[in-house]
Amino acid sequence: MAGQKMLKFVEVERDMPEKRPPNLRKEDFGEIYAEYATAKAAEQASRCSQCGVPYCQSHCPLHNNIPDWLRMTAEGRLEEAYEISQATNTFPEICGRICPQDRLCEGNCVIEQSGHGTVTIGSVEKYITDTAFENGWVKPIKPQTERAESVGIIGAGPGGLAAADILRRQGVQVTVYDRYDRGGGLLTYGIPGFKLEKDIVMQRMAQLEDGGVEFVLNCDVGDDLSFDAIRGKHDAVLIATGVYKTRGLEAPGVGAEGIVRAIDYLTASNRKSFGDVVEEFENGELNAVGKKVVVIGGGDTAMDCVRTAIRQGAESVKCLYRRDEANMPGSMREVQNAKEEGVEFVWLSAPRGFTGDKVEGVMVQKMRLGAPDASGRQMPELIEGSDYVEDADLVVQALGFEPEDIPTLWGVPELEVTRWGTIKAEFTTGQTSLEGVFAAGDIVRGASLVVWAIKDGRDAAEAILDYINQEAAVAAE
Ligand code: FAD
Ligand code: SF4
Ligand code: SF4
Repeated sequence: MAGQKMLKFVEVERDMPEKRPPNLRKEDFGEIYAEYATAKAAEQASRCSQCGVPYCQSHCPLHNNIPDWLRMTAEGRLEEAYEISQATNTFPEICGRICPQDRLCEGNCVIEQSGHGTVTIGSVEKYITDTAFENGWVKPIKPQTERAESVGIIGAGPGGLAAADILRRQGVQVTVYDRYDRGGGLLTYGIPGFKLEKDIVMQRMAQLEDGGVEFVLNCDVGDDLSFDAIRGKHDAVLIATGVYKTRGLEAPGVGAEGIVRAIDYLTASNRKSFGDVVEEFENGELNAVGKKVVVIGGGDTAMDCVRTAIRQGAESVKCLYRRDEANMPGSMREVQNAKEEGVEFVWLSAPRGFTGDKVEGVMVQKMRLGAPDASGRQMPELIEGSDYVEDADLVVQALGFEPEDIPTLWGVPELEVTRWGTIKAEFTTGQTSLEGVFAAGDIVRGASLVVWAIKDGRDAAEAILDYINQEAAVAAE
């Protein structure tokens, strides 16, 4: 039952953790939101009305038991809050930081809909697990018994890591292969530190390594090691390789020096945050300092690029997007953060081409929104004669990602893919067209969200356990 401590939404206003002022946060790559103090977390959690049918929970991809951990937090029972929270989410401290809560749990909170401002679910979730780490409540992974079966996981992003966690806890021998030199996938090399500090990700990597998960890094599957070799070595395989093929522009001058891909730009910046020597950054190719930067695109990747350029000391940063603000795919919260930090948005504008062998400008065409397409979104239309040149000496293309052609790259034509190139996998199990091979995360869904990758990884791990148990039972007959 909800205790006296709950239902405070009428007298207590919604209050997010303090946000660092833009002039200070522009100076570094640290996260922009502070942590709640204990009393504040309890106060904010107490605003929950403990709905009988919690829409927050049904709109969380992991179906987190949000009302229960809010109540435990309000009552000061934080260790119990943590136990409930970690039961359904492998990385609650990460989701609390970077889920687009306005579209998921918080966007469906009934208090928000009654005009009182949503319960700050994400910030409380982050607070609970950060506190659990500080207090040593996050237990090491210690399987009760070791099993002989092994699973190979290709890709150390959130999908692969969530699966590794579940399988290892059941005593399965787990090896994770990744082409990068650090695990974490886009958590490490895509998402910038001002949204997710890197030690938060590395803390989870350490937990998995200490728990016996083996990592084989700097290993590009299909190049350094064949898929068949991995399949031959393990009882089951999970493909969790994400989507990395950049959707490029086709426009005159697009090959000019100074026009770069978002993933390269963000990876270089994230590597710098680890203290790595990054040649393309040192030689200026992927460094915005002193430059007029134009980022093309309107999604979350574009927002991460513009805000990275601001922190690198760009002279000016503009975001070019072919629709208007209301039709941007990126999170409104991130657009607001970018505006506060000095990013200029150039709405209803599309690149027609680029000037200079070393880029000097973007030829911009103005657009208007026309009739809706099949999806109901208004289609941008050109306004003839509206062209102008926007000065630029660094242009970042952030137009989204597509899957690489895995069947060809890995020499497995029998691995079925969809017409979008994503791997065909059963919805709840991740089972692919190959026996004993499963898939999870962006490589199945297309570019999506961390929380969905975690959900897929967890589901696939359960299906893999069923599969290896069945195989073991057959072998024992
Ligand atoms: P990934 O995280 O992409 O991990 C895949 C891993 O597989 C990588 O480590 C890669 O090196 C490895 N790999 C690929 N091919 C091979 C190979 N052949 N051999 C070996 N290893 C291989 N989502 C949110 O929820 N919130 C956000 O704020 C957010 N911001 C984002 C910002 C950016 C810039 C980007 C690009 C994405 C963002 N996303 C965000 C989306 C989110 O990061 C992804 O949906 C999520 O990381 C997908 O997880 P995954 O495990 O499927 O793949
Ligand atoms: Fe909300 Fe994401 Fe946490 Fe679910 S995992 S409760 S959607 S922040
Ligand atoms: Fe609490 Fe809002 Fe969820 Fe209802 S919808 S249980 S008020 S967080």
